[in-house]
Amino acid sequence: MRQFSEYKDVIQAGDLVLIWISRDNIKPVTIATGATFNTRYGSFPHDDMIGKPFGSQIAVRTRGSNKFGFVHVLQPTAELWTLSLPHRTQIVYTPDSSYIMQRMQCSPHSRVIEAGTGSGSFSHAFARTAGYVFSYEFHKMRYEQARQEFEEHDLLRDGNLAITHRDVCQDGFSIKKGDTTTFFDHEQFSGQQELAQVDANVVFLDLPAPWDAIPHLDKVISQDSKVSLCCFSPCIEQVDKTLEVLEKKGWTEVEMVEIQGRQYESRRQMVRRLDDALQRLRDVKERKQVGVERRKRMFNKLISDEEETFEERPETPKTQYNPFGKGSRVKEGDLNFQWKEVSKVEAEVKSHTSYLTFASKIVRKTRDEKLAAKAFAEVQD
Ligand code: SAM
Repeated sequence: MRQFSEYKDVIQAGDLVLIWISRDNIKPVTIATGATFNTRYGSFPHDDMIGKPFGSQIAVRTRGSNKFGFVHVLQPTAELWTLSLPHRTQIVYTPDSSYIMQRMQCSPHSRVIEAGTGSGSFSHAFARTAGYVFSYEFHKMRYEQARQEFEEHDLLRDGNLAITHRDVCQDGFSIKKGDTTTFFDHEQFSGQQELAQVDANVVFLDLPAPWDAIPHLDKVISQDSKVSLCCFSPCIEQVDKTLEVLEKKGWTEVEMVEIQGRQYESRRQMVRRLDDALQRLRDVKERKQVGVERRKRMFNKLISDEEETFEERPETPKTQYNPFGKGSRVKEGDLNFQWKEVSKVEAEVKSHTSYLTFASKIVRKTRDEKLAAKAFAEVQD
């Protein structure tokens, strides 16, 4: 079963599950009979997870107390993997990868080139959406780690992903028959072909020097359909150099977008007026005065040896809503008060500020008359 793109209901031994401990702490675990998952909230036997539906809450009693610790066992998805994967590099987070895929119209018809693979975050998102993904990484250890993860996640052998250990700026993207640096399903080589049919129509470059890789793309991009390209660069100087090469190499529809991932929370805030502040100051002063006089009377009684009588505490009126501090609570939007709409920026959205340069290329611009006639006929029907 392809764990990241197919669904199953019940957890079995051998399944990869993502254990949600807290919002910032999700751990990938392969379920094995007799094993235990240890956290500071308690030890969770894998056997308690086997047979439970994905999404279940698993609880254990915390040792020496009456309390329970609990976790949730979730089915792997590209989004959860991005939140739980071991980082080897900066990664592309879901808000960015989904925007990029939508802009490049990535679909099951897409054949994708991705360089570099890095920690494999974007590779998982591409592999779920696209028809086939060719990923390239020149750092030996990162390549090895990504290859192992892709294999464990069933993306390589019967999957739709190939990973190549290669410096794409120097050696380009072509994959020769018998290339031992490429790990993939060799069905991709059909017949007598010497080169794998890459035929990419979506290209994503997350490299420090995309301008050195772009000239190599002509050999591997689709000749018959529009090709979309996106370069992910943190510096504007990189964008500048990329634009120069894109123009030289005939890429068009060039557009640069700056990513600033933010989430805005909108709510109402009570309008606070000067009169409210003055009333509050009067109120505080009055209460202080009452307190001082009461303490004075008690002191005088003590030193005059008067028989102790309990003075009734004067009934202080319940504090009305106080816009400057404590007081009875007012529900947001209460019609007795005036409100203004405000928004607050949520700082926790994971995304990183960078520039995205989009471009496209149509290699064969001549019209296929047969196809055109067929399309016209379909429109007229
Ligand atoms: N997009 C990836 C993700 O979401 O996990 C992160 C990519 S990381 C920022 C960039 C990767 O590109 C690094 O792992 C680096 O080793 C690799 N790289 C840099 N230059 C390269 C080149 N010329 N050829 C292949 N890989 C390269």
